[in-house]
Order: sequence, then C-alpha cells, then structure tokens
Amino acid sequence: MTTLQAEIAELIRQEGPLPVGRYMALCLGHPRHGYYMTRDPFGSGGDFTTAPEISQMFGELIGLWVAHAWRASGAPARFRLVELGPGRGTLMADMLRATRIVPGFREALSVHLVETSPALRARQAATLQGVAPVWHKTLAEALDGPVIAVANEFLDALPLDQFVMTPEGWRERLVGLDAEGGLCWGLGACASPDAGEQGTVPIGTVFEAAHDALSVVTQLAGHVAREGGAALLIDYGSLRSGFGDTLQAMRRHGFADPLAEPGEADLTVHVDFERMGQAALKAGAALHGPATQRELLLALGLAERAQALSLKADAAQRAAISSAFDRLIAPGETGMGDLFKVLALSQRNLPLLPGFDLHRLPDRG
Ligand code: SAH
Repeated sequence: MTTLQAEIAELIRQEGPLPVGRYMALCLGHPRHGYYMTRDPFGSGGDFTTAPEISQMFGELIGLWVAHAWRASGAPARFRLVELGPGRGTLMADMLRATRIVPGFREALSVHLVETSPALRARQAATLQGVAPVWHKTLAEALDGPVIAVANEFLDALPLDQFVMTPEGWRERLVGLDAEGGLCWGLGACASPDAGEQGTVPIGTVFEAAHDALSVVTQLAGHVAREGGAALLIDYGSLRSGFGDTLQAMRRHGFADPLAEPGEADLTVHVDFERMGQAALKAGAALHGPATQRELLLALGLAERAQALSLKADAAQRAAISSAFDRLIAPGETGMGDLFKVLALSQRNLPLLPGFDLHRLPDRG
C-alpha cells in the first residue's frame, strides 16, 4: 500500500467516498505524495513521453506558431509568453531558440510558467537558465496584458468528476473502500450534471464534467478576447463531444489500474475539444480548429524541418529524426498524429492562424 493510499483510505473513513475529481487531485497534486510533486515522470526511464521530449522539431514549430500569432496580434511591444504545465521546460527552450531570428519578438516577451510541482519547477529552472522565467501556481496570476499561451498535455492532467446513468438517473461515480479496506469504485446519490442537450442516453453511460479544464479555457479565452493575444492547446482527446469514461493510469509506458497505486501512476483524461471550444466562444474568443496534431505540424512545415535537420545529421541521427517525425504525425494508436488534437483561441478579428487553414468549426464533421 502506498503512503498516499493509506491517507486516502483514512480520509474516506472520516468523510465518506470521494468524487473522482478529488481523488485525481490528491493522486496528482498532494503536496507530499502527489505524482507530479515528487518526480520527473518523463522519458524512457519514467512513465510516459511527450511530444517535446520526442523531438526538438515539435517545440521549434510551435515557437514559430507563437511568433506568427504575436505578429498577427499586432506585434505588441510587451507580452507574456505563458506556458501551462511546462514539464522539463523543453518545449519553452525549443520555442525560444527557434524564434531568436524573429525581429523584435524576444525583446517583447517575458516568460511565465504555470506549474505546481516543486520538482518540475527545479527542472524547468535548470533548462531555462538565462531566461528568467516567472513561476505561478495558478493561471489567473499569470494573465496580465497581451498573452500568448501554450499548453501541451496540461488539460489532460486536470481533475474531473464523473457521472453514470442508472435506472434512477445520473449518479456520481465515487471512490470508496471495499470490505478489506482497499479502494473501490462506487456510486453516490442521484445528481444532475450539466450533460448538455443529449436527450436520453443508455444505462451505464458515463458523463465527465471537466470543470477545471473548462475553467482554464474560459479564463484564457476571456483574457485574450479582452487584452489581446492567443492560446494554443494541444492534448489527446476528441474533436467532437461524447460520453465515456476516459480516466486512465500510466505507469512505465503502460496502462495501469487507476485505483491500484495512488500517487505512483500518472492519471489522465481525454480532452473534449468541442466542449472546450464552446466554452471559449462563450467567453468571447475566436476559435481556430480544432484540428489534429498531424494537420498542425505538417502545415507548420514539419516535413521541411525534418529534411533540413537530416542534411546535417549522421546516419544514427537521421534515423532518430525519421522515427520522431513518424511518431509525431502517424495516425492510429501507435502515433500521436490523430490521437492528439489542437485548438487555438484568440482575440477576435485575428487573421487565420497557421495550421488552422482547414478551419474546422465544431458543428461541422
Ligand atoms: N507540457 C509538458 C509536460 C506535460 S505533463 C510536456 O509536454 O512535456 C503535465 C504538466 O502539468 C507537468 O509539468 C505538471 O507538473 C503540470 N501540472 C499538472 N497539474 C497542474 C496544475 N493543476 N497546475 C499547474 N501545473 C500542473
């Protein structure tokens, strides 16, 4: 039993079963035993790998997107480059390196990182020496004046609550204790989540209320609509809204039971980009996408970048570039190309942002 498991069991004995969101928040963010609080989970020795850790090309292209969005916003003389959940700081470092050549861009920006984990803040400080980032615990602190924000695999780490359709109506899914004192799933009293205009759904249907992610998107959208700028959200999830239990645990690059080792496995959920887009529109922002990661990276010139890097590379490096290229854009379960979606929000009246020329509104197929 992990230390956190014992603490959660005690909490349940005292306060009763926990909503899924409370359980997720404890597993990921408990100050002493939370998954992100204590470790660097990335890379081959860790639990999972992210696009910036796969290849420098990812951050370089996202950097060029950011520079483009800055110019399209009227090239403000001062703006905040905000990253949410920066991991090892790799994406930020690659973005900054690739945009050195953009006139006026580096002079205009200050770097703001939204990060709760002390372990990862230390890692980011080491990666970003010479950049003088400012760290924030919450997004609200990071937002001031024109902002260009980037979040890769951040929304998927934010807690959500789940509801299950039963013969009595929606009931909240809870984490409780079984007869042996282990963690188990259960159902709470009848509840009425705001599940949208879906009509009747079959018994057993799961609805996920992603209140934290929706609140982040609403804040970002309202801010860029008022103060100028844009935000780029990249995550795995769906283009269209749907139902289903998407909570998953990752440990050592494989799936694990979300209740088995609280605090030792990464817990994530899939992002519903249609709902995120609707929240952004409601908050006054313009929407670009959602599109797939493959569409965005190819439109930003991934193939050309891979070719340019290969020209200067030896045989082993060329093989690594080619395998990273495939992984970033390949369709299906093995690659990230279709699994990952991208959505941009911006102030209104911005020209089309690169990568979203196939501007796809959520109400179309
Ligand atoms: N963007 C990085 C890391 C993704 S992992 C990459 O692509 O490699 C998720 C990141 O979000 C980690 O840095 C984690 O510590 C941070 N994080 C998770 N929940 C958070 C929260 N509620 N507030 C701020 N940061 C959070």
